[in-house]
Amino acid sequence: MSQIDQLKSDIDELVPGMVALRRDLHEHPELAFEEVRTSGIVAQRLQTGVVGLLRGGASKEGAKTIAIRADMDALPIHELNEIDYRSTVDGKMHACGHDGHTSILLSVADILSKRQSELAGSVKFIFQPAEEVIGGAEPMVKEGAMQGVDGVIGLHLISNYPIGRVGVRAGTVFASADKFVLNVKGKGGHAAMPHGAVDPIVISAYIITALQTLISRETSPFSPAVITIGTIRAGTAFNIIPESAELQGTMRAFSQEDRARLLRRISEIAHGIADAMGGSCDVQGFDGCLPCVNDASMTELVHEAAAASVGEGNVDSSEEVMTTGSDDMAYFLKAAPGCYFIVGARNEEKGASYPHHHPRFNVDEDAMPIAVEVLTRAAMDFLK
Ligand SMILES: [Zn+2]
Ligand SMILES: [Zn+2]
Repeated sequence: MSQIDQLKSDIDELVPGMVALRRDLHEHPELAFEEVRTSGIVAQRLQTGVVGLLRGGASKEGAKTIAIRADMDALPIHELNEIDYRSTVDGKMHACGHDGHTSILLSVADILSKRQSELAGSVKFIFQPAEEVIGGAEPMVKEGAMQGVDGVIGLHLISNYPIGRVGVRAGTVFASADKFVLNVKGKGGHAAMPHGAVDPIVISAYIITALQTLISRETSPFSPAVITIGTIRAGTAFNIIPESAELQGTMRAFSQEDRARLLRRISEIAHGIADAMGGSCDVQGFDGCLPCVNDASMTELVHEAAAASVGEGNVDSSEEVMTTGSDDMAYFLKAAPGCYFIVGARNEEKGASYPHHHPRFNVDEDAMPIAVEVLTRAAMDFLK
């Protein structure tokens, strides 16, 4: 058997166990920072904790280390799928595929452990809690999880990307995400006598409209960015002008420059308009997540591993790989050159076509062996 066939057959052998573990994790979802059972399973399998280091038997002086990252957390969603491994916890569900990521990476650890004697460097397996609240990655990096790491890779299963395809692209692939809260203060009064009041709802309306011009008039059409106001809270009755209005929104960008500029401009616009209309505005920005930026040579490494796994024709580096969603893989990518890629898991026939974070979200589990193969090949090629 050739080396390639050997890898495929080793993976085939692992598939039943890998799928069973994914389903077990699916049945027992744990939210961000609650991943006690999940990390217990990981630690037991790795026999080291949630960060495992595999030292290659063929390592020489100056050998490299590659990190592979998976996230483990579920979401506060009540599952509506009718499947026999449905979530057993009311109001909690693996609706983003992180159960798959955890199971995939444990299988990669198994496969690479089998090949330990051939490995010319080390592999660090990083199982991260709390991706969904953008809280798990940064502390792990601060605590040293990326120390001595020369490159990092990871993947997301994607339910609206077709099964059999792998998306790998250099540059920014996931956007930054920052929350902002605007507290518009006016002066309350009778709705019939607006001249005696300062209407924070009218001020808010101008602010909302003007914020959209930050995208349409001030941001390059070649650099995607999004501003969405998700909530407006104001008023108690139809005939009262309220004292204040609160707007909450999110801002997405593909570069740090746009991110910093837009956050600054949101504040300037909100203050300027509120002042001009006789009110005031308190602006709070909440640092969310960095954009995920892929390194060119790490992207090429993964691209080649993907082409060897699914064929060049099924590897995609188009804009379809980009998303205005965010992922805190960004913090690992900032700590070392890396590549975050996507693996298609959409299959309507299997009911795997709902969006991420939907109560009927699911993945085609046939994506899992593909993911294992790409990660394994990329790690082995990196260490050569
Ligand atoms: Zn998610
Ligand atoms: Zn996710």
